[in-house]
This record gives sequence, structure tokens and C-alpha cells, in this order.
Amino acid sequence: MSDLAARLSAIDLRIADAARAAGRDPEDLTRIVVTKFHPAALVTELHALGVRDVGENRQQELSAKRDELTSLDDVRWHFIGQAQTNKAAAIRRSAEAVHSVDRERLADALHRAADSDDLLDVLVQVNLTDDQGRGGVAPGDARRLAEHILELTSLRLRGVMAVAPLDEEPASAFERLRAIADDVRTVDPAADWISAGMTGDFAEAIAAGATHLRIGSAITGPRPDRG
Ligand SMILES: *Cc1c(COP(=O)(O)O)cnc(C)c1O
Repeated sequence: MSDLAARLSAIDLRIADAARAAGRDPEDLTRIVVTKFHPAALVTELHALGVRDVGENRQQELSAKRDELTSLDDVRWHFIGQAQTNKAAAIRRSAEAVHSVDRERLADALHRAADSDDLLDVLVQVNLTDDQGRGGVAPGDARRLAEHILELTSLRLRGVMAVAPLDEEPASAFERLRAIADDVRTVDPAADWISAGMTGDFAEAIAAGATHLRIGSAITGPRPDRG
């Protein structure tokens, strides 16, 4: 078995263990492999190992890899990074889901960029830190943004996304996210995704109800340049 295959299966075992420990069915979890800073060839290798959900956090890298890998037509690309409004059309062309919608203007731009009847899956990114410079809408504004997204007919509101703060126990941060997710589901009961959990905190995220895990380095190995 390659190192990549070994790391992938080890993580999947840990995900399944964490799910069972939380009384949840591992089948209800989607493991997104975050491939940022790695070459497109890594996505091809992951695809051969059965990976179908891939995450990228920069538009240019997302678009370049997707264009290079058109033959992998069953990969679902998840955009998870901070998005500039003027990149919305490029993101929409290259992603099936955008986890990082944190303002109305971005939602509007993604909506205007629709060029087919296909709906774009979007999540409201919530900032769980006290630092307003971090990505995400303030917790108290998540519901209003969700209501706005519901009016944009080319977008499908899927749920909420967050990154745990560095200076707090992830379990307590993810419990706050779960409460916000519950509130957003009162806006649209179908918006039942909770995108949370990375290499260092996916077990806590699973315990708090995460449905979509975004795992990078534990599977891909260390990132080549930055990050
Ligand atoms: C890079 C990244 C991840 C994956 O991080 P790891 O710690 O490598 O698992 C998850 N979510 C976001 C938003 C990221 O930018």
C-alpha cells in the first residue's frame, strides 16, 4: 500500500471510530480531502483510491486543477477559502460547493454568475473567533445571511461551516456552531450540513454533529510550500 493509501485508510478508521463513539453512523459523514498547495497529480492519486470530494482554498489553484483534471468528471470540488467577490464567477465555474459564503455581496455575486440551471451548493461560514478579520459572518448574523441566500434561486443553502479558533477547546467552539446550525435549519430544514473538523479536531467536530469534514495534512502529508 502506498503511504497515501495508508494515511487515507488510517484517517477513515479514526473517523469511523469517532462516529461510533458519538453514536453516529460513519456513513452519514462526508470526508473532504483538502489538497491545497499539492499538485493536481495528487488529486488523481486520491481519485484512484476512491476519493470523490476534494477541497481547495484558493480560486486560482482550484480553477487550474479542475481544468487540468477534466477527465475526473465525478470529483466534487469544494471551495473552502476566503473568496473575493470578483472571483465569484471563476469559483462558480470550478466548484460544486462553496463553504465560505460570509456576506451578502458574495452570495449575490455567486448567484449572478450562474450560467446554467445547475444549483450551486453554498454554506454560511461562521466566524467562531473574536477576531473580525477572520473569515466568516458573526454568529448573530448567520441566520440573516441564510435568509438572504434562500432568496437567490441559483443557490442551494446547505448549512454552515466554521474553523475552530486556535485559542479555545474545539469541542466548545463546535457546540456553538451546532446551535447556529440548528437556528439556520429553522430557516430551511434542508440546510443540514455542518462543515467542521480538520486534521487536529475532526473527532470533536464529529461529536458536535459535523457532517462534512475537511481534512488535509493528515491524509496528504505536509504541504509542499506554505500553509
Ligand atoms: C487547509 C484547510 C483545512 C485542512 O487543514 P488540515 O489541518 O491540513 O487538515 C480545512 N479547512 C480549511 C478552511 C482549510 O483552509
